[in-house]
Amino acid sequence: MTQPVFRFAPSPNGLLHLGHAYSALINLAMAREAGGTMLLRIEDIDTVRCTPARLSMMLEDLEWIGFEWDEAPRRQSDHFDAYRSAIDDLLDEELAYPALLSRSQIRQRVAEAESEGAVWPRDPDGAPLYPGDERHHSPEERQEIVSGDGDHTIRLDMEKAAARMPIGLDWHETGRGPLGEHGQIPANPRQWGDFILGRRDAPASYHLACVLDDALQGVTHVVRGQDLFHATSAHRLLQALFGLPEPQYHHHALLLDSQGRKLSKSIESTALRHLRETGATRDDIRRIIGL
Ligand code: GLU
Repeated sequence: MTQPVFRFAPSPNGLLHLGHAYSALINLAMAREAGGTMLLRIEDIDTVRCTPARLSMMLEDLEWIGFEWDEAPRRQSDHFDAYRSAIDDLLDEELAYPALLSRSQIRQRVAEAESEGAVWPRDPDGAPLYPGDERHHSPEERQEIVSGDGDHTIRLDMEKAAARMPIGLDWHETGRGPLGEHGQIPANPRQWGDFILGRRDAPASYHLACVLDDALQGVTHVVRGQDLFHATSAHRLLQALFGLPEPQYHHHALLLDSQGRKLSKSIESTALRHLRETGATRDDIRRIIGL
């Protein structure tokens, strides 16, 4: 049997809150229970929002709640070249293409189509699927976009990628999806459309960097919030395209505030730092999150 490897992968783009404490400590408890290794991965691809000050606050907060990690943390911003080269492989295989529409242009296109009665498909996060037609561009037109001045993104060509998907691609879920899904879950990556693999200013998307790093770090158990349950379909597809091993997945319930809303980095009252400064102890935190 291989040694189980767990990871907690927060983004230092704001203050950690009770939901992060829950996820980190559940990960740690499961890793220790399995006699496995606990890794910390810093998902700081967004170098504008993930500042060094936020990172050091994050590490302090994690230590304060008693989260422990067994190896030096991996920082994604140190590995942009690796992500870029994986994207280049997909471009070479014509499984990805450079795309030019900005978020507002996408919104506008979709609004136009909807005003004419079309029902535009949305991804599980509610964002409209990519409407651009650059996926049909010739190699010369693609080259023009890449070398031009426009801020392009690199997107997966979902139709081509899904055509390469092994039949019956699925994952083993030991937690629960939002509708109680459990056990073998069929992957449905098409629901994400031509999702972004990289941007000019951030050479990797969350999906891409997460999948590559999970494999590179030998992660066998992905334990994370239910809000990422559907992302697993995209992750399984990328794992299949890159020939990477499949971890086990455990999606846990999300902590909600008193009004039933998902906790967010913008609500100060549940920030670990705020709770500590107003006198909470580590044990109080464990009690509040029900551990
Ligand atoms: N960095 C992601 C977040 O903070 C978590 C990614 C994951 O666990 O796969 O929400």
